[in-house]
Formats: sequence, structure tokens, C-alpha cells
Amino acid sequence: ETKAVIPIESLDSISTKSFPLCMRQLHEQLRIAHHLKHGGRLQYGLFLKGIGVTLEDSLRFWREEFIKIMDLDKFEKQYAYNVRYNYGKEGSKRNYSPFSCLKIINTNVGPGDCHGCPFRHCDTGVLKNKLIGYGFSHQVVSEMVELSKKTHFQIACSKYFDAIHNADVGLGINHPNQFFEESQKILKG
Ligand code: SF4
Repeated sequence: ETKAVIPIESLDSISTKSFPLCMRQLHEQLRIAHHLKHGGRLQYGLFLKGIGVTLEDSLRFWREEFIKIMDLDKFEKQYAYNVRYNYGKEGSKRNYSPFSCLKIINTNVGPGDCHGCPFRHCDTGVLKNKLIGYGFSHQVVSEMVELSKKTHFQIACSKYFDAIHNADVGLGINHPNQFFEESQKILKG
């Protein structure tokens, strides 16, 4: 089965419809700050590769944001390498896989970082406000927050999946790219 190519022009829209919260958050942060720290670039960059964003589009995507706050020259010297690296075009040329939930949940997240799993790493109040801001009902948001508090991060994520699809799928989630693919199946019927 060949995977559909996802054009970067569709990411703003698709991030609200088919991205898990961890990736939606990174996308939003990139649009707001025109930058992501290393952990975020890695987590989000590999996810994008996994959903079908081409290397050329990825380079353009990161470049268009980063050059809002830095010279093109600086981007090319310090950041373009990492984008190509994620696609196995630099360094050891390994074909790096997008991170699983387990890896993301167990990652170290420091101050100013936006990567990780929001159900695990976000402060409860911040998480709650974010979810309310997305327009979910207080009932659904409370459920997600309570599950997070009980360390049922992936079940909270499954609730989020149901909430954005207005459905009752109860999907067992173990990978952000699986989340995306299952979402696309639903949206494309
Ligand atoms: Fe992302 Fe997995 Fe956390 Fe869901 S459970 S937000 S897919 S890391």
C-alpha cells in the first residue's frame, strides 16, 4: 500500500482533525514561536515524515517558519541538516522511525520544551485550559484530566480521539502515527 503524500499546506487544518494532542501542540507552538527546541523538532519531524510529508516539503515547512526569526543562512547551517537527517539523508543515513507513545511518555521534558506527551507532561491546569480552548465540553475535559492524573495517559488520548471525531471508538493507542492513520480512515470513510 503506498501512502498518500500530505502537502504542508494542509497541516494547519489536518492538525486539528487528525493529529494526537502531542503533535497538535508542537504544530501550534511552531506556528506561534517560529521555532521548536531540539526535542520538539525530532518528535514532530519524524511524525511528519511518518504521515507522508516529503523531505522537500519538510525542508520548506521548517525553513518558512524559522526564517521568520533568523537568517536563511543560519537555518541552512544549523537546522536543515537535522531535517535531512530525520529522513536518513545525513550522518549514518539510518531510516529513523517516528517515536511511539511509550518513548514519548518516557522522554525527558525540560523548561521551555513542548515535546513529550501532554497527558503526561503538561501541568493539569494548562492541560485543562488547552482542552477547553479547543471547544470540548467540561465533562469530556474532566474525564481526560482525571485519566491523566491517574497516569492513564493513552486512555486519555483515546478519549481525545473520540472527542475530535465525535465518535465512540475506544481505540487503543500506542503510536501517534497510528492515531493519525485511524483518524484518516474515519474521515475518509
Ligand atoms: Fe501522543 Fe501517545 Fe500521548 Fe497520545 S498518548 S498524546 S499519541 S504520546
